Amino acid sequence: MLATQLYAKGFDDIVIIEHNPRIAMKIKVSGGGKCNVTNEKVDEDNYLGEDGFLKKVLSSYTPKELLNFLNARNVHPSIRSLGQYFCKKSADEVINALQIGIPKKAFLLSRKVLSVEKKDDYIIHTDKGDIQAEHLVIATGSNAYPQVGGSNIGLSLAKDLGHNSQAFNPVLVGWTVQKDQFWMKELSGISTYVSIDVGHKKLFGELLFAHKGISGPAVLSASLYWKKGLVSIDFLPKLSLKEAFSQKKKQVSTQMQLPKRLSKLLLDSIELKDKSVQDLNSQDWEKLALLKAYPMSPAGNFGLKKAEACRGGVNTQEVDFNSMQSKLHDKLYFLGEVLDVTGELGGYNFQWAFASAIVCTRALENSLVKQNT
Ligand SMILES: Cc1cc2nc3c(=O)[nH]c(=O)nc-3n(C[C@H](O)[C@H](O)[C@H](O)COP(=O)(O)OP(=O)(O)OC[C@H]3O[C@@H](n4cnc5c(N)ncnc54)[C@H](O)[C@@H]3O)c2cc1C
Repeated sequence: MLATQLYAKGFDDIVIIEHNPRIAMKIKVSGGGKCNVTNEKVDEDNYLGEDGFLKKVLSSYTPKELLNFLNARNVHPSIRSLGQYFCKKSADEVINALQIGIPKKAFLLSRKVLSVEKKDDYIIHTDKGDIQAEHLVIATGSNAYPQVGGSNIGLSLAKDLGHNSQAFNPVLVGWTVQKDQFWMKELSGISTYVSIDVGHKKLFGELLFAHKGISGPAVLSASLYWKKGLVSIDFLPKLSLKEAFSQKKKQVSTQMQLPKRLSKLLLDSIELKDKSVQDLNSQDWEKLALLKAYPMSPAGNFGLKKAEACRGGVNTQEVDFNSMQSKLHDKLYFLGEVLDVTGELGGYNFQWAFASAIVCTRALENSLVKQNT
């Protein structure tokens, strides 16, 4: 995004160093191959990070502006549930749109950055020799999904240059379960709409039972906020307990409106025998209430190879939110997921990456124009 903007404005002395043989592999694999590029409603509440920093950067480039940019390049994402915008055909639409106007020679592909030094200029050490640059922008993402090139080189480059950071940890990832919830594994392939309470957050969406534990959009977003301890799952998020079990003569299981097998195993798990609602005693109602606040403590997560993002990154207090420039070195910038900012599932991470690139474009543009006059 940064390169495409700067080339469009006539700055042509820019290269993109990428260790994969092609660019933007995370866009390629995103959103099930259709790239959930942004969300109708984006604000700092959808992210883990420093509020003031997030607010300033996100307000500098709105989802509408991103969609206008894509529309102008003939990409017309369509809106799905929960305000998510996806490409109509494939994520390549976004990748191709971003490349318009950038000459082939600007892409230094299959070239791995190893370290960096600050002399008068920046000296970037790569596996194919050094590159000297007056400005350096670090947009190396996180080490989530290493199978498509995710690495933690960004943290190591930041360290080379004296910056502090938080270690990366996988998020937007499924949870493994403790023994008490092994019954969930028997439901592999079934999904159901839930809400999950984790800390002060409540996340809504589908929960997918998997053979290793639980996954699906609600779990992935909740994983952003979970470090350890209990979370609470509401299996009937659209109804109160009384509304859900209003028909006195009917069996509890038939009124749960959940997949049959899930209803059965859930009742087993809360140790409630299936019976008609009129036969429930007060103890039974207490057990039934667990369907709206089912406590579980995840055992862990499915790991980096399955994670769509990482928590952690370069300390945002050391970066100026007006320009994305380092507060420690002139002409050094950080963008996107390498910063200690991570969004929920739903297009928030691309919106963040693109918004931070736009803030940087504006600052670089001004600084380059000043230099040339
Ligand atoms: C499976 C999956 C699905 C996702 N789906 C979505 C989605 O639908 N919507 C959404 O908003 N977000 C999604 N994300 C998250 C999103 O992809 C990232 O947050 C986003 O790509 C971050 O952008 P970035 O430019 O900061 O970093 P990246 O896109 O990760 O770009 C960093 C680049 O640096 C390269 N690199 C790394 N190390 C080196 C090195 N040593 N030398 C040279 N190059 C290097 C990498 O190969 C990569 O191309 C998904 C992520 C994954 C893994």
